Amino acid sequence: MTELPKRVRVVVVGGGIVGVSVARHLAGLGETDVLLLEREPMLGSRASAASAGGLRQQFSTEHDVLMAMEGVRQIRRLAEDTGHHPEFRSHGYLMLACGEPRMRAYEAGAALQRRLGLPVETLSPAEVARRWSILDASDVLGAVFCGTDGICDPHAVVQGFATYARTRGVRIATEVEVTGLLLDGPAVRGVTTNHGTVRSEIVVNAGGAWAARVAATAGLALPLRPCKRQIFSTRPFPLPPDLPLVLDLDRRFYFRPESGGAILSAAEVEEVADLEPVLDWSGVPDLVERAVHRCPTLAEASIARGWAGLRTLTPDDSAILGEVPGRPGLILAVGLGGHGITQGPAVGLAVAELIVRGESSALPLAPFHVGRFSDPPLSIV
Ligand SMILES: Cc1cc2nc3c(=O)[nH]c(=O)nc-3n(C[C@H](O)[C@H](O)[C@H](O)COP(=O)(O)OP(=O)(O)OC[C@H]3O[C@@H](n4cnc5c(N)ncnc54)[C@H](O)[C@@H]3O)c2cc1C
Repeated sequence: MTELPKRVRVVVVGGGIVGVSVARHLAGLGETDVLLLEREPMLGSRASAASAGGLRQQFSTEHDVLMAMEGVRQIRRLAEDTGHHPEFRSHGYLMLACGEPRMRAYEAGAALQRRLGLPVETLSPAEVARRWSILDASDVLGAVFCGTDGICDPHAVVQGFATYARTRGVRIATEVEVTGLLLDGPAVRGVTTNHGTVRSEIVVNAGGAWAARVAATAGLALPLRPCKRQIFSTRPFPLPPDLPLVLDLDRRFYFRPESGGAILSAAEVEEVADLEPVLDWSGVPDLVERAVHRCPTLAEASIARGWAGLRTLTPDDSAILGEVPGRPGLILAVGLGGHGITQGPAVGLAVAELIVRGESSALPLAPFHVGRFSDPPLSIV
């Protein structure tokens, strides 16, 4: 039977990359009276385990770019900070555009990203074909490429953050389910769990796809949409290991090298009510057709396995972070969508600073406030 403390300063709900990042940064700022609760036997075993490990900094808003840049900085120093090697490979993200609207959006994004310090190149189809002759760029209008984007091992990042937090005194309990938020008037002052009640000054909701359910126990309706995403991996076949992650949103497809072969995905949004996504092979022939069109060599590959996970989207595709009007004591770190591995490290830092110092100096939290979606910000029933 797991013995939980009766009272701590901060409870973190959820041990995915976001929750462990919050715990790691609280510890880094000297706040160790922290209890992280994870329902599963292993940390990082839900969305964080399903990810492609891609670290893309090419976003269209300044706050998302800064968040991603800070994430990459932290992952680069992970081994030094925590002893866990992130397997960071800086092979870049190549984002292809087949139509004018997407190319214009990519060019505008590239201008912003360069201003913020990223080495983003705008490429013609001929340059794409010259640099990556393995790709068929005949129907491409142009592309953007950032050579400091890359990939990492998300498991190592989760374990590194958890080790850092634990060794400084943060308590982490797995196989503990938070069944509700504890209310004292309007304020959230702890959690109920299947192992008893824990009182706290602050609760951080980092429950990923389940965050809306956790918030609902305090009468909050969060605008989160859990969406299923699948990835398939091939058996080893000849593919340059330093190929970037190639993202082709017009053909709803991305792929990158992995373990001597490739992983590939139909970059599609499928909203689901069932939060236990099941792998569906029915779309594979269509995915393979799109893949072979873009990279003819993929015709030599055979798919070995696949998996499904949940990306938790918000109405504007940016995370929801920070305090909740009408619910003092509750802090949200949710809605990381398809970029939680990239942005989770920065989210943890910003949220920890908010808790310890009353504001985040590392990154602006205002653009991520839940109040941006409605006025009044949230329905409290
Ligand atoms: C197929 C796929 C590919 C992706 N690829 C990338 C990528 O290349 N790059 C990138 O940056 N991002 C990617 N993402 C997105 C990224 O994986 C997520 O944004 C990130 O993992 C979200 O982290 P999280 O901690 O919020 O959620 P999770 O990792 O799901 O963690 C939430 C945790 O909360 C726990 N929990 C929930 N409710 C409770 C409760 N009541 N009590 C206790 N514990 C609870 C859950 O068990 C879970 O472990 C991808 C996602 C998917 C699905």
